[in-house]
Amino acid sequence: MIKFLNTLSGQKEEFIPIKNKKVGIFVCGPTVYDWPHIGHARTYVIFDVIVKYLRYKGYKVKFVMNITDIDDKIIDRAKEEKKTWKEVAEFYEKDFMKDIAELGINSVDKFARATEHTEQIIKQIKVLIEKGYAYQTEDGIYFDISKFDDYGKLSKRTVEQAEDAVSRIDESINKRNKGDFVLWRLSKEGEPAWDFETGITNSAGRPGWHIEDTAISEKYLGQQYEIHGGGQDLIFPHHEAEIAQAEAASGEKPFVKYWLHSGFLTINGQKMSKSLKNFITIKDILKGYLPEAVRFMILSTHYRSPIDYKEDLIKQSEAGIQRVLELVNKLELIKKSGPEEKKVEIDEIIKNVQMEFNAKMDDDFNTPEAVAALFNFIRIVNSFIDNQNLDRKSAEKAIGVLKEIDEVFGILPKKESGIPEKIFELVQNREKLRKEKAWLEADKVRDEVKSLGYSIEDTPYGPLVKKS
Ligand SMILES: [Zn+2]
Repeated sequence: MIKFLNTLSGQKEEFIPIKNKKVGIFVCGPTVYDWPHIGHARTYVIFDVIVKYLRYKGYKVKFVMNITDIDDKIIDRAKEEKKTWKEVAEFYEKDFMKDIAELGINSVDKFARATEHTEQIIKQIKVLIEKGYAYQTEDGIYFDISKFDDYGKLSKRTVEQAEDAVSRIDESINKRNKGDFVLWRLSKEGEPAWDFETGITNSAGRPGWHIEDTAISEKYLGQQYEIHGGGQDLIFPHHEAEIAQAEAASGEKPFVKYWLHSGFLTINGQKMSKSLKNFITIKDILKGYLPEAVRFMILSTHYRSPIDYKEDLIKQSEAGIQRVLELVNKLELIKKSGPEEKKVEIDEIIKNVQMEFNAKMDDDFNTPEAVAALFNFIRIVNSFIDNQNLDRKSAEKAIGVLKEIDEVFGILPKKESGIPEKIFELVQNREKLRKEKAWLEADKVRDEVKSLGYSIEDTPYGPLVKKS
């Protein structure tokens, strides 16, 4: 049984999909106007792992993510860079895709751009106008929060409190309520505009930020679906607005059964910001560390807890990843040339790590404890290896369970990102020379490997290469 904290109820709830084992999940995607940073990496890695875990448990998951490719921030950036808004959006979208691919975030079934869904967006706004939830002013079409009784149920705010929190609420002089948010913004001259057939004149414009998510999710996941995820900073007003739009338009409640929110990421105790110059992009961090180390760092903290990023943290994670890699390399060697005779009983130990992994992940996706269980397993297997007690078949089984868990975590370094092929070739060459008893030559190759930043450990089963 999987349980996790539903922001909507504030309680840990048992996960029961609306229908059978089918799961619809929507996670707020990026606004493509800048390089994605490690705070974004955290959110996307977490939901990648959650989706992979649900699939591992046999759920049929459809994972949809929107791409906000039209927004004030994009228009402003285009002016700064003297480009069109479309050029800016395309450039940063491509960049985002590259970064998340490198981080192994590959569980999304559908990326949906806002500008490719204006038809659905307009349709949903029209329903809201017809039902009396939306009205037009001189600069846009707004949602009237006083008409929607449940406004505030996710963020636990009252309408009055919602009105006080105007920081990210759209400003307009002629709104009915201070907290009303924009559904459709009328475009000024020179700004991108889509035609809106409301029967109201001058309504060419662009979608507001909140409406794209509900229009897109309705198209791909239906009027009601299982999970909506995002960072905690999106709870209000963004997700609150989504609930208002979707439930007002369809009349169906709840629009989303479970809301999941990931915690903040700070840098040395401070909020990441351009002005503090403490902005760490995904690209920056991948220059110095393996993508698997970034995932490992993120998974070492519970998804709802804050992470305070420090250089030490990623360094520790990189060391952890190297330990896993080292074990896998040793196991591969033993699998090929280790003893045939069985001296230890590994089945029970494998069963234990699988059980622990499942139990910890079932309990609100407790990745740090699941990681601890994995490292306990690694410690036991290493002690078998140190005592030369591990046979071929057991090594193979150990590799099997590591790979099984890694289907979810994605922390086992792929060979190419770990040790370059050239190093392996040199090591093989050294082995050949050693067999021919050309010791001097063999030592020269070892020195060359060393000068390239790697070391060779000769084990009873063959040479083991490590990053030194
Ligand atoms: Zn969103």
